[in-house]
Amino acid sequence: MTFKDLGLSDSLLKAIEEKGYTKPSPIQEKAIPKVLEGRDMLASAQTGTGKTAGFVLPILQLLENGVDYRKRPIRTLILTPTRELAAQIHQNVKEYGKHMDLKSMVMFGGVKQKPQVAQLRDGVDILIATPGRLIDLNNQGFVNLKKIEILVLDEADRMLDMGFLRDIQRIMTLLPERRQNLLFSATFSKDIKKLATGILSNPVSVTATPENTTVEVIKQRIIRMDKPRKTSFTIKMIEEGDWQQVLIFTRTKHGANKLCEKLNNKKITAMAIHGNKSQNHRTKALAQFKKGEVRVLVATDIAARGIDIPLLPHVINFEIPNISEDYVHRIGRTGRAGANGVAISLVDNEELAYIRDIEKLTKQKFDKEIIEGYEPPYIAEKDIKAPKGNGAQSRGRGGSKNSNSKPGNKKHYHTGNSNKGGGNRGGGNSGNR
Ligand code: AMP
Repeated sequence: MTFKDLGLSDSLLKAIEEKGYTKPSPIQEKAIPKVLEGRDMLASAQTGTGKTAGFVLPILQLLENGVDYRKRPIRTLILTPTRELAAQIHQNVKEYGKHMDLKSMVMFGGVKQKPQVAQLRDGVDILIATPGRLIDLNNQGFVNLKKIEILVLDEADRMLDMGFLRDIQRIMTLLPERRQNLLFSATFSKDIKKLATGILSNPVSVTATPENTTVEVIKQRIIRMDKPRKTSFTIKMIEEGDWQQVLIFTRTKHGANKLCEKLNNKKITAMAIHGNKSQNHRTKALAQFKKGEVRVLVATDIAARGIDIPLLPHVINFEIPNISEDYVHRIGRTGRAGANGVAISLVDNEELAYIRDIEKLTKQKFDKEIIEGYEPPYIAEKDIKAPKGNGAQSRGRGGSKNSNSKPGNKKHYHTGNSNKGGGNRGGGNSGNR
């Protein structure tokens, strides 16, 4: 299958060639013809699958017919959860549409609104926006969404996680009823299904990777670890492996800052991105990381969403997410475009229950490694407590506190001097005593 077979126009084919894509990815093969037909779509796809081109390319083609060059009302709205993702999609729109006469703009908060208002006045065919600023500018009368023909909700699961449901519902009331709707999500909770039912009309379903499973080319290592020794182990891995581009996830902003500081102290250049950092800082950190000027990017889940880092070889889960879907998103940062990647999770005793939830969600049972010198205190299987709220699958942060995994518990695993099991592999939760 070639891009030409998908029915794309010459100007798009030229842009695709210039991007260096030789053939469509599976999601593109499935999505492009259906979007061109004008169908609504429910797509299960993670970042890294080529999903952006999967909707941007056919949308550009649909819009090219019927441009109103004088007025240029907004005809496509792409909603995204984060500024970074919005900026990245805008970049793609510009690249794929470079041989077309379509105008696009990106709109998000945290920056001045004046230039955005000026751009709106100039006329825009495609608007890529985060919900908050869009509603804000609409309330001020600067945005008219009455001529929207195509609506895209990208990373819809993340939008709900971030509490954008009401904003999305509000935005829906601003759109004309007749329109084409595309909804992309990496995971499918009940809430997402409900949202989709409310918005989509007779949609085709398209799946890039099986629902809620992790991408197979990604090698996943789960290492049980004594909490206070996570930092030294992380430093050791980066130094000994001479890793030059590592993405590390923490659960909290504070955790991200602290780890960053410790890495920098060890002369491993690191920058943090999270919700408390300014947009400028986040953009700069990401650019430097991509260029290889900064070796480690430490991110919280929300900040990292939608970041496009091609061919990322190493992802470390320094802390395990209390929301299992985040694990799927995190490790989706590696192994993109068919390249192999390793996702390493450092799991302390308090996080074992999270791992159990992740195993359930992704339908896999991890081998849990134990590394000599970094063993966690012993914890019995029965003492691994489920996170509060039975699985904590909501975005209420906080999570579990396992009374039996206090650092004060001095009973440790013994791996002895022998490398049991040919390497550092320990058993399952029953340990390696
Ligand atoms: P996405 O899943 O949309 O974030 O895309 C992930 C990465 O794959 C981006 O860096 C795209 O530029 C790249 N990409 C998208 N489509 C293709 C393709 N057909 N061939 C090669 N790379 C692609």
